[in-house]
Amino acid sequence: MPVLYDRVALIGLGLIASSMFWAMKRAGLAGEVTGYARSAETRDTAREIGLCDRICDTAREAVEGADLVVLAVPVGAMEAVARDIAPVLKPGATVTDVGSVKKQVIEAIGPHLPDGVHFIPGHPLAGTEHSGPRSGFATLFDNRYTLLTPVEGTDAEATDRLIRLWEGIGARVETMDADHHDLVLSVTSHTPHLIAYTMVGVADDLRRVTDSEVIKYSAAGFRDFTRIAASDPTMWRDVFLNNKDATLEILGRFTEELFALQRAIRTGDGDLLFDYFTRTRAIRRGIIEAGQDTAAPDFGRGLPGDGRSDTGGAGKSRADTSKAGTSKAGT
Ligand code: NAP
Repeated sequence: MPVLYDRVALIGLGLIASSMFWAMKRAGLAGEVTGYARSAETRDTAREIGLCDRICDTAREAVEGADLVVLAVPVGAMEAVARDIAPVLKPGATVTDVGSVKKQVIEAIGPHLPDGVHFIPGHPLAGTEHSGPRSGFATLFDNRYTLLTPVEGTDAEATDRLIRLWEGIGARVETMDADHHDLVLSVTSHTPHLIAYTMVGVADDLRRVTDSEVIKYSAAGFRDFTRIAASDPTMWRDVFLNNKDATLEILGRFTEELFALQRAIRTGDGDLLFDYFTRTRAIRRGIIEAGQDTAAPDFGRGLPGDGRSDTGGAGKSRADTSKAGTSKAGT
């Protein structure tokens, strides 16, 4: 594939940025890739594992001369980073982000960027519960959606080139309005994460009563919750603080449904429960038919020790393209 950007800068070197790096290298879409992360420790790790062609000690150094700048830091850090790099951005460059929330992030980044720089917000719906520079792998975005939420008046050529980059690293791309994105993601990702955090918290309280039984006899339902609830605390704190309205709206609806089910259990309304579970089962079928998960009993995550477990790439070659067993939770 032809090189789409001669110089790419990755700001933040965690799961998403490192996966983008390995995927861009796999597809040969970027010339030189520079990288920057806040801590010296992460920068040293990146140098050690060959993540990026050049690791810089400041964000400004990394973005200087870059044709594409990818902001891959937690949502709450976007504004400070945008403010810092704005003065050195190359005229005509494209700035994009991968934040899980769009409206707030657009408001945080947009005002800092100079005229002549194209800002095209984005969000790959791919992820695992792992984080940090070692967690990335080249196949993370394969067959997953990336949503772009271009603001009004965005340059068509710049948008088209960014779409080609995402497609080149395996993703399917769609564009939508930022508000719509935030509502949809609240339903499909943010609120489910909150529920998982809550359920695991409840079980943790219970564990104090029942000693280790919660761990010892953990069944598939609870185990799936614990996987989601192991996600990065900084990232998820920022998601909820920045997608407040949509989360509270969906949480309100969730609570109403929960009360309805609670009442059905109390009154012995088996028909209601059966009909409800029949309806939800169809949604699972739809996801599998759309190729967004697998019907395998372990959801394709692999069992511990079978070499397919959900390690987010750790211990494997990060350019490995055979990571079929990885769960792609996404946000
Ligand atoms: P991650 O693995 O936790 O990595 C975050 C990176 O950002 C780290 O390299 C961290 O550096 C750096 N960082 C944090 N604060 C910074 C600052 N103020 N200045 C510069 N660098 C800073 O995170 P991730 O999972 O890749 O997520 C990155 C973004 O992608 C987030 O906005 C998230 O919402 C979004 N996203 C995540 C997922 C997912 O499932 N994980 C999916 C889609 C989108 P240090 O290591 O030095 O602290």
